[in-house]
Amino acid sequence: MAEVLVYVDHVDGAVRKPTLELLTLARRIGEPVAVHLGPGAETAAPVLGEHGAARVLTADAPEFSDYLVVPKVDALQAAVEAVSPVAVLVPSSAEGKEIAARLALRLGSGIITDAVDVNAGDEGPVATQSVFAAAFTTTSRVTKGVPVITVKPNSTAPEPAPAAGAVEQLPVTFGELATGTKVVSRSERESTGRPELTEAAIVVSGGRGVNGAENFSVIEALADSLGAAVGASRAAVDAGWYPHSNQVGQTGKTVSPQLYIAAGISGAIQHRAGMQTSKTIVAINKDEEAPIFELVDYGVVGDLFDVVPALTDEVKTR
Ligand code: FAD
Repeated sequence: MAEVLVYVDHVDGAVRKPTLELLTLARRIGEPVAVHLGPGAETAAPVLGEHGAARVLTADAPEFSDYLVVPKVDALQAAVEAVSPVAVLVPSSAEGKEIAARLALRLGSGIITDAVDVNAGDEGPVATQSVFAAAFTTTSRVTKGVPVITVKPNSTAPEPAPAAGAVEQLPVTFGELATGTKVVSRSERESTGRPELTEAAIVVSGGRGVNGAENFSVIEALADSLGAAVGASRAAVDAGWYPHSNQVGQTGKTVSPQLYIAAGISGAIQHRAGMQTSKTIVAINKDEEAPIFELVDYGVVGDLFDVVPALTDEVKTR
């Protein structure tokens, strides 16, 4: 059976959800082979196996822990040359997209970025992309060499593989790693203790209606009562009220949680592009004509500064 390489996104062996989604998609086009670079392969291997990896190729070097991209491309290229896969799937993170682009260039093949679905085709894997703020869906395939495809998080639900067994771990043999870049300093961002936006089961987002950085505490309080991540519209981000890393939408992140709560967000098409596949959508907006109400499951017409704290209090009593 044709093999599909899946690049593993992890933190010291704790595999991140987008990788499990890739393994689920990879099973449609062949037998998944995971590539785990850096420490923690022992921890990661059983999880990868449960989600369908037939083998785990592993490599460790200090460069991998330093989040340097080019050494990872060196090792991934060696894995491709060893396996000759039908495709390489990589998560559509900032790092993933850089790795994928460099790898495709090295392989002399082609890249498809931000796919939302991948399927087997008669002439090779076919990727689906959602374009123009989700107004159109396109399908495409790479016509030369080993396709490298990056897939957006939350494009599919990760499913454990039936009858998955223990997986074999094999080292990837690679030549000298690139040394052109080195880490000169690090600063750690203070942890909010909230889940990662793209992986959260619940997201509470605020928009221009929040009316100031200081007022985002209202959104955060509801998010914390629900164990949710905080999102923001571009209007809120552009105003400097919340970081761009929390922006949801066409030029931000795509989320697909079980529950998405939009407060003070009008529902512009570019915002919808990043959240419309959420399972249940709730909007709080004081304008009953706001376009967001066209796509919600539950809508509250009201002032968010009344509704959101009341909701937070109610959640806290449960
Ligand atoms: P507004 O459209 O101004 O809506 C604010 C809403 O808050 C209104 O509906 C108002 O009734 C309501 N409101 C005000 N006060 C209250 C209150 N006290 N209580 C309750 N409701 C209240 N946008 C994104 O979000 N993400 C993107 O990734 C993105 N990418 C873009 C890419 C491009 C190329 C372009 C052109 C635009 C992009 N945008 C994006 C911007 C998008 O078009 C909208 O401008 C933006 O989403 C509007 O944000 P908003 O809904 O917060 O603000």
